[in-house]
Amino acid sequence: MRFDILTIFPGFFESPLKCSLIGKALLQKKLSVYLHDIRAFATDRHKTVDAIPYGGGAGMVMKPEPLVAAVESVPRQEKSLRILLSPKGTLFDQKMAKELAQKDQLILVCGRYEGVDERVKELAIDEEISIGDYVLNGGEAAALVIVEALVRFIPGFMGNEASVQRESFEEGLLEHPQYTRPAEFRGLKVPQVLQSGHHEEIEKWRREQALKITQERRPDLLKKVAKEIKNA
Ligand code: SAM
Repeated sequence: MRFDILTIFPGFFESPLKCSLIGKALLQKKLSVYLHDIRAFATDRHKTVDAIPYGGGAGMVMKPEPLVAAVESVPRQEKSLRILLSPKGTLFDQKMAKELAQKDQLILVCGRYEGVDERVKELAIDEEISIGDYVLNGGEAAALVIVEALVRFIPGFMGNEASVQRESFEEGLLEHPQYTRPAEFRGLKVPQVLQSGHHEEIEKWRREQALKITQERRPDLLKKVAKEIKNA
């Protein structure tokens, strides 16, 4: 899978793309990430990428010319989608991550300032995506969230493919509690069933715990699953 990230701060991505599984996958060419500096597409002497908003108001708005030129400069693959990170976009979730992971290429456009000129969306964007109901300074952190969530679906990315299937949200539920060694820590013991080696009992316990924790913390998810089953 290929990601093209358009930003005025390419340096933002240096460390996160070097670390951990993503760093390793990049070295092994299981995925590729291309960073494009939007400022390089500004044509004036000062490399201007923003201007004051028409109609007045606070802050600056990203100009359409460099942004559209930057998006148009990216070579397109067959299954490719141009995404603008935006608090006004469709809310990103695990289901969307799975669907987007089927694409060959995502072009992620990071806004800054008060956002981008509306015409950019019409000319060079297929979808707007929000990572949550809060406002970030820029789309860079949101682009990284999308990359992190999607790469987990790339075959061979995770050491253990089963761990993706078992995770929170995969079955519409939050994940069961996890424990590791030692069996007792500061008087707190790992539940006996997990030490029993009895796989059926362990599965049953995990399922019950997943349901319990989802009911307690995210009853909305249970309602969603029930609705999906009903509509299936
Ligand atoms: N004035 C805009 C508004 O109220 O909708 C907010 C602009 S925000 C300061 C600058 C940029 O950060 C946005 O253009 C977008 O690219 C990014 N951004 C902010 N919050 C985001 C979110 N929740 N999800 C995705 N991108 C976000």
